[in-house]
Amino acid sequence: AKEYPTHSVVIFNEYLQSSLIRKMKIEKELRHALANDEFDVHYQPKFCLKDDSLVGVEALVRWENEHLGKVGPGEFIPIAEQMGLIYEIGECVFRQAVGQCLNWNQWLDEPISVSVNVSVLQLEDRRFVGMIEDAIQQIGIPPELVELEITESVAQNLDENRITLSQLKQIGVKCSIDDFGTGYSSLNVLEQLPIDTLKIDKSFIDRLNHRISQSVIETIIHLCTVLNLEIVAEGIESKNQADVLREIGCNIGQGYYFSKPLNQRDMSQLLRNYSKE
Ligand code: C2E
Ligand code: CA
Ligand code: CA
Ligand code: CA
Repeated sequence: AKEYPTHSVVIFNEYLQSSLIRKMKIEKELRHALANDEFDVHYQPKFCLKDDSLVGVEALVRWENEHLGKVGPGEFIPIAEQMGLIYEIGECVFRQAVGQCLNWNQWLDEPISVSVNVSVLQLEDRRFVGMIEDAIQQIGIPPELVELEITESVAQNLDENRITLSQLKQIGVKCSIDDFGTGYSSLNVLEQLPIDTLKIDKSFIDRLNHRISQSVIETIIHLCTVLNLEIVAEGIESKNQADVLREIGCNIGQGYYFSKPLNQRDMSQLLRNYSKE
């Protein structure tokens, strides 16, 4: 019994040490990742739940490094934010995704939009609005086909970020609140920020079979109708979830039930098959 505490301390230290080492390795490799062109973009389609049409894609960054292999964005994005690298990585993803979306739109019959995730740190960089405007102009995509997904933490700096979002609105791009319902923002943020879309977080979709969650989503949908906001449900994994969401008036859905995120080639293939139907 005496040895137990010592033992657990060792395990704790080892765990702490290995996670610190992992983080340091990621930091080291991240420094050269942009220059080495190690970032790729995958795309997950979004569908209209009423008529099954493909309305857009969400761009999701992917990183593969020769020493670390594949590292998910959930792990490296927070580190890139701490290191001050997120602005450059974000610009790289934005240009890739928007350029690719224009390319698809050049042969698709119906236009599709592209949504790009934006860290609040990027949004709060003074170069951000100018970068978005320049990139859109240089690439030549209609700005209304471009959407920026920003998490609720945008509301922590409400006064400044409201101005930035208005400037983006003037350029003509759309803005959405990502992971809605998981952060600390209150509902009146929806009224105070010039946004176009609300993405309901997967955690609500997971609990759709509970009466209370369903009522919460119904209330959010009602609120969005009043405020004239588009609503997107993310993380749909079953037909039943898609059916329930359609019934309660959610127009757009995304998730493994429809498709996982695909690399550029597979997404192009999906769009080709789809436009032949
Ligand atoms: P997110 O923006 O909420 O993106 C949705 C995540 O859920 C993606 O994970 C996607 O692959 C996954 N997903 C989609 N449908 C389903 C489903 O039906 N079931 C389950 N279990 N998962 C599903 P991913 O690609 O690993 O991205 C994780 C997070 O990393 C994103 O969450 C986003 O916050 C961040 N991220 C990804 N790409 C970028 C980027 O280019 N810039 C920034 N700033 N953040 C990014
Ligand atoms: Ca997102
Ligand atoms: Ca999300
Ligand atoms: Ca999420």
